[in-house]
Amino acid sequence: MHETVKGRFAPTPSGFLHLGNVFCSLLAWLWAKKAGGSVLLRIEDLDARRCPRENADALARDLEWLGLDWDEGAYRSVDSENYFQSNRSAVYEKFFRRLQQQGLLYPCFCSRNEVHAAMAPHFSDGRVIYPGTCRRLSEEERAAKAKLRPPAYRLKTADETISFHDELYGECSFALAKENGDCIVRRSDGVFAYQLAVTVDDGLMGVTQVVRGADLLSSTPLQLYLFRLLDLPAPKEYCHIPLLVAPDGRRLAKRDGDLELAALKKRLGSAEALIGQLAWLAGQLPRPEPITPAELLPLFDPKKIPRHNIVVPPELLCR
Ligand code: GLU
Repeated sequence: MHETVKGRFAPTPSGFLHLGNVFCSLLAWLWAKKAGGSVLLRIEDLDARRCPRENADALARDLEWLGLDWDEGAYRSVDSENYFQSNRSAVYEKFFRRLQQQGLLYPCFCSRNEVHAAMAPHFSDGRVIYPGTCRRLSEEERAAKAKLRPPAYRLKTADETISFHDELYGECSFALAKENGDCIVRRSDGVFAYQLAVTVDDGLMGVTQVVRGADLLSSTPLQLYLFRLLDLPAPKEYCHIPLLVAPDGRRLAKRDGDLELAALKKRLGSAEALIGQLAWLAGQLPRPEPITPAELLPLFDPKKIPRHNIVVPPELLCR
């Protein structure tokens, strides 16, 4: 049976839509539509205090302005509110309990600084592997620490290697315990963590295709592991796309206000001009010429996407 492709936009509205989000949304849209599939919009506002609703509203308007439409989800479906992660704690709680019942979670009392100070291995993508301090605590030690502060919860990752195919990176393998470590599934303030939420959501929402930044490549083995533990269907396709970087090699960040769509709109004048620039950076056009996503669709060829970080030309950086 031929399964229909379901892709997704999964922005975190902690700021406004910026160049990196637009780049990712454009490629996610092209990838799903090229396969005759649909796209859903899920607002990843887990940390509701950092992600006010106005940001999500603006983000949805911007996607529409860009011609990147979606078929399901926030601002579209009758149950639109169910596509905001901030409304889904009860759902995550259910899966959290499932892991807990399987004895796969343990409370962790370490602060971020403690984890860093413990000389945990650091990887070039910023991953810090938790050294397992709290995994080894006795019941008495746990009880004593619990009196002082509420714990976060971590998943005990197994000593196994997870392999998967990525559409751009090819065959990937990660030794879970060594290269991922025990990830947080719930923070000490009770907010569920990205790895758990995104796995539950992609599984329950029937997402079959994930297009996202290469910085999340190392999250994929953890999520595949969680899909298995939670008995949820994993996406069939993973496409980790190159990151956009400034001419000095620095990673573009949300705090660079100059990357915000509002500034780009002013500079470039039209959505088509911006789409054309991004399509060119993604290797899809020989020159940065104005084009709509729909016009780009027949030309889209994932094989042409560069396999390395993409340097954004200074014209796109309004500094
Ligand atoms: N919400 C994440 C972000 O905005 C993306 C998560 C994902 O694609 O899995 O960076």
